[in-house]
Amino acid sequence: MRTSPNTNDLDRSAGANLSQNMQRDKAHRKKSRSLKPLRKIWPFITRYPLLLSLFVFFLFAASITGLLLTYAFKFMIDCGFNNAGSNAKICAQIPITDIGNGSGGSAGVYFLIFIGITLLSAIFGAARFYTISVLGQHVVTDLRTTLYNHITRLSPAFFERIRTGEVVSRLTTDSMLIETVVGSSMSIALRSLVGGIGALVIMLLVSWKLTLMVLGVGPLIVIPVILFGRRIQRLSREGQDNLATASSRAVEALSSIQTVQAFTQEDTERARFSEAAQNTFKSNKSRLGVRSIMNFVTFGIGQTGIIAVLWYGASAAAAGEMSYGDIGQFSLLALMLMMNFGFVITTWADLLRAAGASERIIELLGEVPSITAPENPVPMNKADGRIDVENMTFSYPTRQDEKALNAINMSVMPGETVALVGPSGAGKTTMFQLLLRFYDPQSGQIKIDGIPITDLAPKTLRQQFAFVQQATPLFSGSAMDNIRYGRVGASDEEVMTAAKSAFAHDFIMKLPDGYQTDLGEKAMTLSGGQQQRIAIARAILRDAPVLLLDEATSALDAESERAVQNAFAALSKDRTTLVIAHRLATVKKADRIIVLEDGQIVDQGTHNELIKRDGLYARLAELQFNPEG
Ligand code: ADP
Repeated sequence: MRTSPNTNDLDRSAGANLSQNMQRDKAHRKKSRSLKPLRKIWPFITRYPLLLSLFVFFLFAASITGLLLTYAFKFMIDCGFNNAGSNAKICAQIPITDIGNGSGGSAGVYFLIFIGITLLSAIFGAARFYTISVLGQHVVTDLRTTLYNHITRLSPAFFERIRTGEVVSRLTTDSMLIETVVGSSMSIALRSLVGGIGALVIMLLVSWKLTLMVLGVGPLIVIPVILFGRRIQRLSREGQDNLATASSRAVEALSSIQTVQAFTQEDTERARFSEAAQNTFKSNKSRLGVRSIMNFVTFGIGQTGIIAVLWYGASAAAAGEMSYGDIGQFSLLALMLMMNFGFVITTWADLLRAAGASERIIELLGEVPSITAPENPVPMNKADGRIDVENMTFSYPTRQDEKALNAINMSVMPGETVALVGPSGAGKTTMFQLLLRFYDPQSGQIKIDGIPITDLAPKTLRQQFAFVQQATPLFSGSAMDNIRYGRVGASDEEVMTAAKSAFAHDFIMKLPDGYQTDLGEKAMTLSGGQQQRIAIARAILRDAPVLLLDEATSALDAESERAVQNAFAALSKDRTTLVIAHRLATVKKADRIIVLEDGQIVDQGTHNELIKRDGLYARLAELQFNPEG
């Protein structure tokens, strides 16, 4: 995003990003009355040219055979049942009459042709269904994967704005809607459009007069449909939004179910969820209501109109202007036109609905990470681990008027262990967040081995760190999997060695299936201390040049803590280590202590130096740290 870190562009950029996003959201909503958003899905479809071409082929083949059916129908009536008199002239035009004996004996042939074309049309129809359904599956799979890949690239700032459940809803429900569109609605719409136009052309050939009369009914249907369509799309987006709110509420509550139950807030949670669910119900109900009226208008008015026209046609046939076969064929065509038109209209509503959904997906895809990778990243294998923070000031995007870190200057030498101490809210964790480049500071910069971290690919930068958080999240899966998360590709032996160094091996071996024991969601089957040791083993396995430990040993009992401290001591020997610790034992071992308060470095030195100075550190040591250290 930037080449000269000292420009104050960034002061504005984080906030600007947010408001830009909001404006874009609004713009999207404004546009939501059209099918435009669906265009963005098109590139996902054209990735499969063969399937697409096959679909187009079967689409036309099925439509053409479908229309041929009406001719087969006409000749069946005119020639199959009765090919004498005036019909003989018509029937003589087609070679089939030669097969029969000219006295109605050829009826079987017409029926056979009718059956043949019907079967052919069915085969093409099935092939069309198959190709488009598979295409739909491809599109939704690709869309979901692309979306997930994109979301995992987004910076924490994004996740502060949007709830996880909301993202999950877009990933699942919205993309399912797109699947319906590509896999079925679009096919129905195209099929109906091609079939409808074809029917109209043949109707004109059979009787332009009757056709014009049928078309006269058109505006009665089209106008209300356009009006209803808009409401449907708005209600659809509203429904999806409400659904997303309901699910994000549920995800939040269920993932902290113990807190919910411990505070006996089940009723509050139920009420909140129920409200969101009811809102979804209301918007969906209104949508279905509007849609039912629309269906009535389309089919009711349309069919009545056609019957009236046919009434007129019947008198024309009686007057000898048209054959009965013509009337039969025309009725069939008019019915086809009507049905196809109806399908176009109803799927139009589906398409509008999916346009709403794809809008929500595209919004996510359009979300730019607030951290941008440099165009030509500086390569780096394994850093020596020197860290320089130069005049860095930072505010969180959601709290721009408060400086979480203010004019920070510090250097950490390779292999040095530096403890960050200070009251809660001083900015210690924020420091780690910036080192890992989850956010960019508004001014100043961070360098690793003398290279600004903004010049490195974020992945390269983060590979230099092993990070153990205060509450390190573990994932469902085995102990082995969880530790291996530190370095995918590590052998079982390496995992076990790391576990031994983290003093996790013994308790893991006591689990029912040892290293293969499934730890349950977020490893809830382990105690806090055990979870932490697994997290430490993971960090050890990572073998990165810089260790970032955030209260890494806070959940350990005295004995395990000592053991883990020793493991860390060995591990941090050749590594730069930054540790946020509230325990004096950890702090005392550090080469240097940096004292933070209100986002500023207020003091630094060794434990003894700082105690002598009798400043904030001495007070903290007295109050906060374990007195017997
Ligand atoms: P410490 O780790 O020293 O306890 P933090 O670095 O977590 O403190 O927090 C520093 C300040 O930044 C606090 O005032 C805190 O409220 C604020 N803060 C932390 N995380 C965020 C966030 N994601 N968004 C907005 N403000 C935050």
